[in-house]
Amino acid sequence: MRIAIIGSGPSGFYAAEALLRRTDVPVEVDLFDRLPTPYGLVRGGVAPDHQKIKNVARVFAATAARPSFRFLGNVQLGRDVSVEELRRHYHQIVFATGNEADRRLGIPGEGIARSTPATVFVGWYNGHPDYRDAKIDLSVPRLAVVGNGNVAVDVARMLMRTRAELERTDVAGHALEALVASRVRDVYLLGRRGPEQASFTPAELKELGELSDADPVVDPAQLDGCATGPGHENVDLLRTFAARQPRPGTKRLHLRFLVSPTSIVAGPDGGVAGIALEHNRLETLPDGRVAARGTGQTKLLDVGMVLPAVGYAGDRIPGVPFDEKRRIVSNRDGRVVDPVTGQVVPGEYVVGWARSGPQGLIGEHKRASAQVAGLMAQDGVGLDTRELPPREAIDEILRGRGVQLVSFQDWKQLDDVEVARGARRGAPRDKIVDVEAMLRILGEAR
Ligand SMILES: Cc1cc2nc3c(=O)[nH]c(=O)nc-3n(C[C@H](O)[C@H](O)[C@H](O)COP(=O)(O)OP(=O)(O)OC[C@H]3O[C@@H](n4cnc5c(N)ncnc54)[C@H](O)[C@@H]3O)c2cc1C
Repeated sequence: MRIAIIGSGPSGFYAAEALLRRTDVPVEVDLFDRLPTPYGLVRGGVAPDHQKIKNVARVFAATAARPSFRFLGNVQLGRDVSVEELRRHYHQIVFATGNEADRRLGIPGEGIARSTPATVFVGWYNGHPDYRDAKIDLSVPRLAVVGNGNVAVDVARMLMRTRAELERTDVAGHALEALVASRVRDVYLLGRRGPEQASFTPAELKELGELSDADPVVDPAQLDGCATGPGHENVDLLRTFAARQPRPGTKRLHLRFLVSPTSIVAGPDGGVAGIALEHNRLETLPDGRVAARGTGQTKLLDVGMVLPAVGYAGDRIPGVPFDEKRRIVSNRDGRVVDPVTGQVVPGEYVVGWARSGPQGLIGEHKRASAQVAGLMAQDGVGLDTRELPPREAIDEILRGRGVQLVSFQDWKQLDDVEVARGARRGAPRDKIVDVEAMLRILGEAR
């Protein structure tokens, strides 16, 4: 049974592991990624100061060491290879392409200078090649992060870190210099709903109280009437923040709830000069969900930069059925379906964020990807008798198109280079942020 997986983030690697563990038929897995580097958001999303979480890459490297596994990096589905071609070369295909686009606030002023989606900012500080040239201007004293999820907290925290804290992380070199030179002193973290509804996890929130040169600021009045105790850890943490006196001279992280941005206001230089906020009240819907409703009361917050962190979303890939509404690969329980007829597309599957949207931590993909691998085993009985071209035929086709394939062995070489560079500043690695440079290093080594 020969299987192609597209996307080498956690869901792709966990699917590979589950498929390679099968004992009923021998399985070969070719794992493709559009980048020369593996691991998806573990490398390009998870915050640089969360190195422990990034250590999960070791688990994936163990999968990569299995004899019937191959990594084919620097190959983009829809650009270098088509779904049609994959169908000819593999018995089954798994899409594990994640959610690489961003959700918009949908308000006037979005997109002016210094209004930058968190997807861009996160990719920039993590050295994702797509964002290495992003214009990030941290010359302003006040900045707003819109959103109350873990990504919003990551972004706010990274802005408050000191050189000493950043240097020993794998933050991209260009971002290290820019963050150290940053003039940002006040960050406003803005939530649409109340403290009880915030979706950041207590562990992430707690870290905001442990920064060496920044203090959280919470107005205790915002916590009036909020429940306390088990299940309400966020509120309890916010109460401890509200009771604290910020240390003199530190940067400030202001947590504001029950506000929705209505427009981003431009200043004389054309860039952000403020954000208009409408005050919200909460309303419990018939199904029990709590929604924010605007009160019509607005005020202007004086900030020079806005980072909306309101979620990631999938992008359409040519040839892959797409659910426009949910912005994911159109599927039923991981089996790809035609978005119009609902008919199952035989032999095609989807895992991870591409399947379910941008919710869920890395560990949760293990079970979910294994479940889809189970469906694939069920559906695939007899499929393995379909005769395919030789395994390397796909490599030949790609090389014929001028694609420089990057194997897992090649990645290990890049990994060694990055780790050696990082050692100079006491960091776990110093990333190469340019695909051309990566390919050059590999070309020279050959
Ligand atoms: C900013 C941020 C911080 C996070 N922090 C944490 C954390 O601290 N702890 C935690 O548990 N979880 C964290 N998460 C969540 C975690 O990263 C995700 O749950 C997980 O990475 C999703 O895995 P995935 O495999 O579905 O997608 P991804 O990790 O996004 O992997 C998708 C892969 O597909 C590749 N790809 C996309 N399109 C194509 C194409 N056309 N052809 C070939 N390859 C393609 C991409 O290059 C990428 O490598 C964080 C997420 C974000 C955004």
